[in-house]
Amino acid sequence: MGPRGLQVESVALDEIAARFGTPCYVYSRAALTTAFAAYRDTLQAKGLLDRALICYAVKANSNLAILNLFARLGAGFDIVSGGELARVLAAGGSADKIVFSGVGKAREEMRAALEAGIHCFNVESASELEQLDEVAGQLGRRAPVSLRVNPDVDARTHPYISTGLKTAKFGVAFDQAFEIYRRAASLPHLQVKGIDCHIGSQLLDPAPAAEAADKVLGLVDRLAAAGIALEHIDLGGGLGITYRADEPAPPTADYLGPMLARLAGRKEKLVFEPGRSLVGNAGLLLTRVQVLKHGEARHFAVVDAAMNDLMRPALYDAWHEIVKVGAGGTAAGTPMPYEIVGPVCESGDFLGHDRELALQEGDLLAILSAGAYGMAMASNYNTRPRAAEVMVDGDAAHLIRRRENVAELFALESVLP
Ligand SMILES: *Cc1c(COP(=O)(O)O)cnc(C)c1O
Repeated sequence: MGPRGLQVESVALDEIAARFGTPCYVYSRAALTTAFAAYRDTLQAKGLLDRALICYAVKANSNLAILNLFARLGAGFDIVSGGELARVLAAGGSADKIVFSGVGKAREEMRAALEAGIHCFNVESASELEQLDEVAGQLGRRAPVSLRVNPDVDARTHPYISTGLKTAKFGVAFDQAFEIYRRAASLPHLQVKGIDCHIGSQLLDPAPAAEAADKVLGLVDRLAAAGIALEHIDLGGGLGITYRADEPAPPTADYLGPMLARLAGRKEKLVFEPGRSLVGNAGLLLTRVQVLKHGEARHFAVVDAAMNDLMRPALYDAWHEIVKVGAGGTAAGTPMPYEIVGPVCESGDFLGHDRELALQEGDLLAILSAGAYGMAMASNYNTRPRAAEVMVDGDAAHLIRRRENVAELFALESVLP
C-alpha cells in the first residue's frame, strides 16, 4: 500500500471509486496476462506448446474485454452455452479454437456451434451423441466430438465444485466410455476427435489430476488398439488460486508438472480448460462501508456490495480476503471483529465473517481474489443493478461494463392489460 492507498497497477482504488462508483469490479490487465503466460510458459518449457490449445473457461468471467484480451494472447475458449458462444465470437475469439462443454446442450445451441465451426463438442452423455448426430445430419455436417469421461477420482475440493466422482452429473461413466466411443465411431454425422475430462475446481493438489490423466491415457490406448485413434486429449481446468495465505495454491508449473510428465513422448494434441486460475486473482470487488452497526453480540459493517454481486461466500461459504483501501487522510476507527455484510434481505448475505478491521462509515474495502465466479454469477436479486466493471492497464482505468440502472432491470416486464 503506497501513500495513495491500495492500487491496481498504477491506479489508486479510491480514484476508481470516485470515478466509477461502488460496488465495482476492478481487474488488472497485467495480472490476466501473467496468469495466461504461466500456462504458456509451462507448456513451452516441456516442448508441448505447439501442440497445445489453452481454452479459457468462459463461465469464470465472461466480460468481452477479458475474452478479447485472452483471444489476443492466442487463447481458445471452453464454452457451456450458446450465449457464451455468441460472446466469444463478439469478442473476436476464433470459432475453431472453441470447445463446447455442458451436460444439457439444446439442439439450437448445437446448431449454432456447428454453423460457427467450433473445434470440438465435449459430449457428456450417450443421448447427447445421438442428438448431435441428428442435428449435424440436418445441417449436412459432421460434428467433431470428444467424450467427457468421468474418471471417478476424488478431487478433494468443495462438493459443489467436485465433478469427477461417479455420483456427479458430469461426463460419461468411465466403464461405459469404451462402448459409447464405439457407438460414436459408427454414427455417420460425427467425427471422433478426442477425449475430455474435468474433475473439479479450486484444486490445490496435483495428484488427483495426474491420476485422472493416467486413467484417460489408458483409455486412449485401448481405443487406439480397437481402431479408434484420437487426435487430442483435453485435461480440463480446475487449478485453484490462493484465497488465503494458509491455503496456498501451487504455481501453475508445479500443478501441471505431474500431469504433463505423463504426456511426454505421446503424439496427441493437448487441450486445457483453465478458468479460475486465469482470472481469479486478477480481480477484486471494491465496496464502500454504508453503516456500522454495533449489536449486542456482534459488530456489523454493512457495505454496498452484497451476495448478488459476489455469491461465493453465501453459496460455498467461500473465504475472500477483505482489506481496507485506506487512502491517506482517513482517520482510523477502532479495530474490532466485524461481520462484513451486504444490504440484501437474507441472513446468508455476508461477504466475510469475523474480520478484524478498524473501520469508519464511508471507508472503501477491497474484496480480493474476486475475478472468477464473481461478476459471472451476479444477479439482480433485490432489484439491485449489477456492479460496474473496470480494467486497469498501467496508469489507465477503462470502464468495461457500465453499471446497470434501475429502469433497465424491469424494462423487459409488462403488466396485464
Ligand atoms: C468450470 C469448468 C472449467 C473451468 O474450471 P476452473 O476451476 O475455473 O478452472 C473447465 N472445464 C469445464 C468443463 C468446466 O465446467
